[in-house]
Amino acid sequence: MKTFKLFWLDGKTEKVKGNSIADAFTKAGYGNGALPALNYYEEIKNEGKNFECVACDCNIKEEEKTEMYGYTICNECNNPI
Ligand SMILES: [Zn+2]
Repeated sequence: MKTFKLFWLDGKTEKVKGNSIADAFTKAGYGNGALPALNYYEEIKNEGKNFECVACDCNIKEEEKTEMYGYTICNECNNPI
């Protein structure tokens, strides 16, 4: 899951999450009709999250990570159902 910051033409900013910008946009409840109001977006990569889970690719904070066989994984991947 990635985090994107949306910059709207009216100056507002907003963070949305999804597997891609399109996915994040949809999950936030926006349709294609909202696109003209969007100025640009950028992916937020390291918002205090300096580690990457090798299993699910998410960015995690130090306190959320677990080392397994030398790999860094997140708590979610560490607790498979
Ligand atoms: Zn993970």
